[in-house]
Amino acid sequence: MTTTPKLELFRELPSVDEVMRKPALAALLEEHGAVVVTDAARTVLGRLRAEIASALLDSASLRLALDGMSRAIEEHLRLEVAYSLRPVINATGVILHTNLGRAPLAQSALRHAAEASGGYSNLEFQIAAGERGKRDIHVQRLLQKLLDESAKDREISTIVVNNNAAAVLLALNSLAEGAEVIVSRGELVEIGGSFRIPDVMAKSGALLREVGTTNRTRILDYENAINERTRLLLRVHRSNFEISGFTEQPSISELSDLARRRGLPLMEDLGSGALVNLENFGLRGEPNVLDSLRAGIDVVTYSGDKLLGGPQAGLISGRGDLVSRMRSNSLFRALRVDKLTYAALEATLLAYVKRDYDAIPVLGMMQRSAEEMGKRAQEITKQLILPKLKTEIVAGESVIGGGAAPSSVLPTRLLAVTCQDLSADELAARLRTSDPPVIARVEEGRVLLDLRTVFPEQDAMILRALRQIAV
Ligand SMILES: *Cc1c(COP(=O)(O)O)cnc(C)c1O
Repeated sequence: MTTTPKLELFRELPSVDEVMRKPALAALLEEHGAVVVTDAARTVLGRLRAEIASALLDSASLRLALDGMSRAIEEHLRLEVAYSLRPVINATGVILHTNLGRAPLAQSALRHAAEASGGYSNLEFQIAAGERGKRDIHVQRLLQKLLDESAKDREISTIVVNNNAAAVLLALNSLAEGAEVIVSRGELVEIGGSFRIPDVMAKSGALLREVGTTNRTRILDYENAINERTRLLLRVHRSNFEISGFTEQPSISELSDLARRRGLPLMEDLGSGALVNLENFGLRGEPNVLDSLRAGIDVVTYSGDKLLGGPQAGLISGRGDLVSRMRSNSLFRALRVDKLTYAALEATLLAYVKRDYDAIPVLGMMQRSAEEMGKRAQEITKQLILPKLKTEIVAGESVIGGGAAPSSVLPTRLLAVTCQDLSADELAARLRTSDPPVIARVEEGRVLLDLRTVFPEQDAMILRALRQIAV
């Protein structure tokens, strides 16, 4: 076999200009413009040049490669212009899945974000007066309405920052910089994503004064720790862990009485701040913002994208004078949110005001019954009669997630799938390569799909993905 000298092979390579004139590229040029197509052509040519240089191509294989050039450019371009952030199907049954973007937004929130952001808006403008306004008034009115019944004789204000971690940072810095904050040892939690109470406290410039023990803290422990440097009592929702057995923790009203007597504010980091009583949604023991304020908390911090079901945000609601100090802190400027967030949050809050809970996806998902999940799973299995696949519907639990207690689960029915030629992990991996990717749980050698977190119109996509894998 004679080998063609490399120099001759190089000569067979077309120029970028020649490649760009190929009729097969016309449609790509039309869709994506010359810049990225030329770039892709250069990359593909460069790859061929490198392969010739390393003697990986002979004359015949080069010809083949040149014939397939347009396809190679198209393939490269497809990867190049694809979004990195893309939709997935959450079949894990974890409603507030932090890795999968937490709360999906209400349709009204999407529409309002689009209309408020595609053009100009009155983000910081008072239309009637024609003067500069404040961005935080946009959600204040609705929150006042929602939290009013908790207010008693107090004026409740709310401000919004980037997330709950930022809310805690801003609140601590505004209320206790250079002074002491008393927290129970049993509440020094770490939340997923490296939010640790002691670390945030340190960054805020406040000094952590730990009291009690991991499992038991009494009101007297707080009382004894109060001194002239104390500025704040802090209570933290344990969120993703629980302690049981020989435990003790003062109630909010005990803490509130103590705070009142000693002239100190009482703050609660609630984390997953529900705006409704979740017992109506099948969840016991999850605290909500109203109950905390009603029980005597002065300032509560909570996330917008956990049980509230809105966009990523941190909300700080509480006594007007305390919230005002946060509003005038220069940190607030650094932590403020964009019009997209205000718009999505405003629309989500409006759904609460209208009591239109079905419109908020996370609340809607909680309301689905196990039977309904079973029926949908049954529908899929009926259409999935493939020799390689074994499907079964089994009882299981959907998880709330997002800082709700680990025991906060809802009964569900799971679609359990095994595939003859694949391990459960392999099957789950293949589901992830579907378009859109399907994310599922793997347990005891089976792939488990929980349709509670799957939007009904996505059932057909799961069916298609399983069919493609098992044909
Ligand atoms: C989730 C959570 C946080 C962090 O909230 P982000 O919105 O993720 O920043 C802080 N504190 C508690 C108690 C939480 O549950």
